Amino acid sequence: MSTTYRPIRARIDLAALRFNLGVASHHAGAAKLWSVVKANGYGHGLARTVGALEEVADGFALVELEAAIALREAGIRQPILMMEGFYSDEELPLFAEYRLTPVVHRPAQVDALVSAALPARLPIYLKLNTGMNRLGLELDEFRQALPRLQACRGVAGITLMTHFADADGPCGVAGQMARFAEFNAGLDLPACLANSAALLRYPETLGAWARPGIMLYGSSPFPEVSAESLGLLPVMTLESEIIAVRELQAGDTIGYGNSFTAEGPMRVGVVACGYADGYPRHAPTGTPVLMADRRSRTLGRVSMDKLCVDITEIPAAGVGAPVVLWGEGLSADEVASAAGTVSYELFCALAPRVPVVEA
Ligand SMILES: *Cc1c(COP(=O)(O)O)cnc(C)c1O
Repeated sequence: MSTTYRPIRARIDLAALRFNLGVASHHAGAAKLWSVVKANGYGHGLARTVGALEEVADGFALVELEAAIALREAGIRQPILMMEGFYSDEELPLFAEYRLTPVVHRPAQVDALVSAALPARLPIYLKLNTGMNRLGLELDEFRQALPRLQACRGVAGITLMTHFADADGPCGVAGQMARFAEFNAGLDLPACLANSAALLRYPETLGAWARPGIMLYGSSPFPEVSAESLGLLPVMTLESEIIAVRELQAGDTIGYGNSFTAEGPMRVGVVACGYADGYPRHAPTGTPVLMADRRSRTLGRVSMDKLCVDITEIPAAGVGAPVVLWGEGLSADEVASAAGTVSYELFCALAPRVPVVEA
């Protein structure tokens, strides 16, 4: 594994990833699980993530066709669900060749499937719009499509899918579940509804399959519930070191825009981590960091390669002292929340220049 002279690195704990899939399986009961690995395994590395889960995953779900093909060429045998389906009809032969399960979410895709002479029969997911208003067939479109797909020789089996807009929030799933029941009334087709939040909070959403993503990476889908209390382990730990120490006096400022002013004498550590590493530039003064098992806070603006931390109360922290930006001991959810975002975005934004080490 390559590393760099610059001290920043992302440690990926593959045992934690497998453990979290176990937590998801425990909640899933008899439902099978698509391990969602879109966006390069939520920034954790696609090959690494899939490799770690290969022995235990029922299937993998993503949106990038190149990545799915790479998984097949690497010997992955499980079903692969393409959650945005095919973008152009020309991709359909690749779906057949590589045995990829397309999500069919608009009527033109139904037409394409029905008229394609595919060399292999494909299981498909029919995505229904139950209120998210992003992808999915409306009820009338669904009623027209279903008999055509059921009669289609290229289609091996149909699973109904929908996606919840607020399974992690106050609206919950009841409205969308009622709408889904209208689609499936009298049909009783297999269903795949739940993301991490629904899997954890709404067992009534469990069908034949569920699609957990963020919980596998050790984060909580709920703003008010910690990952730890859900029994999840952090997978990515972003860590670096202090590369300079400064003593400030009252009135001294730190960094671009002079956005932080010292009120009295303080010690500041300059950490080799900035927004070009994927640390959020919007993280304000006070965003938590961890040093030698003690929490502290960022000071001033995050710059491209550096950020500053308060080490006034941590006299042992000097040049070379390790700093955890998020991960083990400091939940990415907490950092994300301080920065006005979600851990999904922090993970996905991990920059290519940060070397990854597997633990
Ligand atoms: C990303 C995604 C998921 C996984 O969601 P999490 O909140 O990460 O569990 C499930 N279903 C669809 C359609 C998705 O796009």
